[in-house]
Amino acid sequence: MDKLVKNSGGRIAYAIIIPMVVVVLTSVIGIFALMHWSARLSDESAEQAQHKLIAGALELTQNYLVKQQTGVVIWDEAHHVVNDPVPNESWIYNNITHWLYQNNGFSKSVVVGRDMDVRDVYAHDQSRRWMTPSLYDQLVPALRKVRARYIISFRKTPSGLFAFAPKNNKTGRSIAETGVVSIGGEPYLFSAAAIMPQVQSITSVRYPPAVLVSMVPLMGEKLSNISEMTSLKGFLVSAPLVDRNDVGQFHLQSPRGTDIGVIAWKTSQPGSQMLMRINPFLAIAAFMIATVVIAVAVFTKLVTRRLARSEANAVHAARHDALSGLPNRSRYHDLLVETLEDGFYKGRSTAVVYIDLDHFKDINDTLGHSAGDKVIVAVAQRLKSVIPDKGIVARISGDEFAMVIKDCESDEWLEYILDQVQDEISRPIMIGRREIFASLSMGVAIAPRDGHDPDELLRKADIALYDAKANGRSRRSFFEATMEHHVQSKDLMTRDLRLALQNDELDLAYQPQTDNSAKRIVAVEALARWTKEDGTVVSPAQFIPVAEESGLINDLGIWVLNKACEKAHDWPGVVVSVNVSPNQFKHPRFVEKVMSILAANNLPPQRLEIEVTESVFAGRNDSVLHALRRLKNLGVKVALDDFGSGYSSLSYLRRFPFDTLKIDRDFVSDMNGNAEAEAILVSIIHLGKALGMTIVAEGIETEEQSRFLQEHDCSRLQGFYISKPLKDKDLTTFLNNYQGIGGSGFGADLSYQGRSA
Ligand code: C2E
Ligand code: MG
Ligand code: MG
Repeated sequence: MDKLVKNSGGRIAYAIIIPMVVVVLTSVIGIFALMHWSARLSDESAEQAQHKLIAGALELTQNYLVKQQTGVVIWDEAHHVVNDPVPNESWIYNNITHWLYQNNGFSKSVVVGRDMDVRDVYAHDQSRRWMTPSLYDQLVPALRKVRARYIISFRKTPSGLFAFAPKNNKTGRSIAETGVVSIGGEPYLFSAAAIMPQVQSITSVRYPPAVLVSMVPLMGEKLSNISEMTSLKGFLVSAPLVDRNDVGQFHLQSPRGTDIGVIAWKTSQPGSQMLMRINPFLAIAAFMIATVVIAVAVFTKLVTRRLARSEANAVHAARHDALSGLPNRSRYHDLLVETLEDGFYKGRSTAVVYIDLDHFKDINDTLGHSAGDKVIVAVAQRLKSVIPDKGIVARISGDEFAMVIKDCESDEWLEYILDQVQDEISRPIMIGRREIFASLSMGVAIAPRDGHDPDELLRKADIALYDAKANGRSRRSFFEATMEHHVQSKDLMTRDLRLALQNDELDLAYQPQTDNSAKRIVAVEALARWTKEDGTVVSPAQFIPVAEESGLINDLGIWVLNKACEKAHDWPGVVVSVNVSPNQFKHPRFVEKVMSILAANNLPPQRLEIEVTESVFAGRNDSVLHALRRLKNLGVKVALDDFGSGYSSLSYLRRFPFDTLKIDRDFVSDMNGNAEAEAILVSIIHLGKALGMTIVAEGIETEEQSRFLQEHDCSRLQGFYISKPLKDKDLTTFLNNYQGIGGSGFGADLSYQGRSA
């Protein structure tokens, strides 16, 4: 069952825990991812803003370069000098290139003529080698733009001539293009401006301008200016760097579009910074969530395990008998259905066996319920130990068990198995120091022979069990169609018995009892007789149990008492002994009834003896003892019938002071020279005498039996040897003629050869 609990508990737990963990994990991961993503977004947008800042700062710086150039490029004289076929280099040096270096720090300059020829090259350190063809090539797009802007600055006049009117002329701005070039691997900011006249001029032909390109290295002061403007830190110019989150790179490109290098800076990363700040809190939160999730998971698992256990317990309890642990009736039914289906498909026989523990009530009543429980447990274990593989044993009710035996090979095989069952049960069961001998009655129905339907098979097994019990217990019966007839006839018998009672068809026979000398009849036992209209005689062994089951026993008992008391007047001085069923004591006014019958018949109570069997003690029914005591106190004699046939006969003697002890017929019939049986008989007589009781031996059939009992001081003798039960008239004659044993035997229509006839 533990495995079952684990499995189903686990299943329930995982059904709750897994989705919960998944939801919590996804939420946590989602929150983390979202925060990182938004941090990244904010970092990126910050970097873009910084990019724009740098681009703006660079543009400002370059615009400033243009402005610084303006003074020398919008100048008539300069325009003349640079366009002169042989330009005056020293003038250019003094007034333009060197001047620009001195005043504005342009450390390198070059003048490109109208025909794109290099007219003048300047470097503050006098070197000229810096001006290489590749540098020139880098500058060409900027030069062209300047030249084009210059050309489109001419306005066509109505006369067809061109008037040079630079757009920005009025504001004194040059036509310029700025950018970055690499010189010897170092980036330089440059401004390329058209060298143009100050005043408006009219010309028939538009010439491109000479262009002055002034350069200043992008480092030192210029770089720190940009840094200042942008308020960004860690500026440096270098070749492109490996991508890093915390380093921003602004790519510098020549006018040709070739990479020159980058302006790198330490990016401010607001998102990452924010993350860094909240990361510890997030970690704590994650830890707490994980702790809560684990705690909830563990708790859920424990709770579901407990739930599953109690559910499994409840299911087990609902399906099993608490005492023996065997499946109970409803579970048995389910298992039977499954087994029958299985057998049906396999084409195999299945036996349904109903089992009744014989005399269990006696064990329970005499040894107590805990002993009874132990017997049940022992029987359950033994049944389980002998049933073949995969067979089923169940406890149906108090002392009823049932088995299903699968795949029965043959009737012989089944008989062999049932023999084993009976052998196993017949071994003594030890209850404390006491040995209990149990026996079983079994009823067997076999599928498919007796049917397929489980209920039908159970009914038939029950009928077979009834048959086994009716035939004397400790036996087994296989279902036969005639048994069904018996059951039906039991119902019929109840109906007939009721009618017989109404129609006064019952009669009494009286069996005489002599005193010890066997010379005098001192008592008669009244025995019910029923001869049907058609002449069939029904034995009391048959109809008394039917009367008890149907409740007719009360009416029947009263009728017998009435009749016996009435007839007693015919036989003065003779005690009339009447058998009374335990069920009759259940009637709350039984004692009053007896007394009123005695009164009605004017019979002294001392003339009446009632015989009860040990079964009156069943169920520890104190009200029965109470009624017996009242009867005894009123003077009615009380006899214990069939003494010794039950379990704990001796203990009954302690519970009620019987007047008479009737030794069970079996002890007398067992006698016949059997020393043990004789010893038992003698000791019962001694015991009874010691307790002051009258001892009656019944079932005496031979002279030897009679003599033995007489010799051993048995108080009264009863049996066919003295007389069979007689009709009342016959009894009167018998009494009149009786002269002691050996007298004439009376033909007795109403007699029987035994109680189990
Ligand atoms: P019981 O009270 O033990 O009655 C004695 C039975 O033994 C009678 O059987 C009787 O016919 C039989 N018997 C007498 N002498 C001999 C003998 O020498 N040998 C043999 N083999 N049998 C002998 P019966 O009349 O068939 O009664 C059977 C049982 O039915 C009685 O056993 C009694 O328990 C019950 N019974 C009979 N009449 C009544 C009644 O009116 N009320 C109740 N409650 N039970 C009754
Ligand atoms: Mg009797
Ligand atoms: Mg008897």
